[in-house]
Amino acid sequence: MTTKRDYYEILGVGRSASPEEIKKAYRKHALKYHPDRNPGNKQSEEKFKEAAEAYAVLSDPNKRAQYDHYGHSLGGGGFHGFNNVEDVFADFGDIFEGFFGFDSVFGSSGGHRSSRRSMRGADLQYETELTFEEAASGKELELNIPRKEECAHCKGSGAEPGSSRSTCPQCGGSGAVRVSQGFFSMAQTCPACHGEGERIEHPCSACRGRGRLEKVRKLSVKVPAGVESGSHIRLRGEGEAGTRGGGRGDLYLIVNVRPHRFFRRSGDDVACDISIPFTQAALGGEVEVPTLDGNVKLKIPMGTQPGRTFRLKGKGILNVHGYGRGDELVNISIEVPKSLNAKERSVLEEFAELHGDKVSGGKNFFDKVKNSFK
Ligand SMILES: [Zn+2]
Ligand SMILES: [Zn+2]
Repeated sequence: MTTKRDYYEILGVGRSASPEEIKKAYRKHALKYHPDRNPGNKQSEEKFKEAAEAYAVLSDPNKRAQYDHYGHSLGGGGFHGFNNVEDVFADFGDIFEGFFGFDSVFGSSGGHRSSRRSMRGADLQYETELTFEEAASGKELELNIPRKEECAHCKGSGAEPGSSRSTCPQCGGSGAVRVSQGFFSMAQTCPACHGEGERIEHPCSACRGRGRLEKVRKLSVKVPAGVESGSHIRLRGEGEAGTRGGGRGDLYLIVNVRPHRFFRRSGDDVACDISIPFTQAALGGEVEVPTLDGNVKLKIPMGTQPGRTFRLKGKGILNVHGYGRGDELVNISIEVPKSLNAKERSVLEEFAELHGDKVSGGKNFFDKVKNSFK
């Protein structure tokens, strides 16, 4: 068993201290060694637990009497102490209540909350626009992102190097002040130190005490091939710097893809419309079709019907997750001449005759109507 310090000594009170004095002393210690104020500091965590143990015994009249008589063994029962800070909050969390009031900076339940002083940096959003082709093939972007960075001069402390922080005189370091409203007395965040509990004697000359400065961050980002319009690309830790050791936020790059005048996207496939003359549809032939890789020749078979779709394998968009590449879908529409000269007309009439098409005026149509009324 390790040697324990005297409970009265831990709290810095005399052996005849009143319960109020003991409570007040514990509160002071609990706030001073609060884990939120001393993140990662093992020594203050030990002191925080030690003060809680002392208070657990001295605030209980029975245990206090036994302690006064037997010392740490408490007449055989002993006191186990606190293994972790969570247990302290479970037992004595309410010590912070009333002290900080309704807008308690430690949370209304008095429970353990992440530090009020260390704050994660904000997430940033940045929008960019790519052409259809850039989205299809991917693009390396150079971004200039204005964001808040830790001030190098004061290393984020907000205090001029060499100067120090002192306890806020208005709130005595608690970060909260009492205000009276009618019959009620409430605690509010201290207006002098904004809840920090400390005052900066000489604010940093570079950041004027804010601890952070706006800087433009140059970033190169590889937008993957196949990215779809509206995609969010998360760049972890590229948001704003946190305060007092809080982590950086993230940067979200939002990619918008400009529509293409010719191509449409359908999943990983690219679709387009091609119109060919009706003679070519009938006779067959070859057309040039644009693709993302440049023009290719597409064979039109004899007798191609309007609305037919040809598939150009592997001419689509790379799958953004690397699962191959889509196809290009070419939809065929057929152009019919809007006017004919005399020669064209006679040739076509000859064709119609040969093909057995009844095209001479409405005769055929009226014959049909007449027949249906017989
Ligand atoms: Zn600074
Ligand atoms: Zn203050």
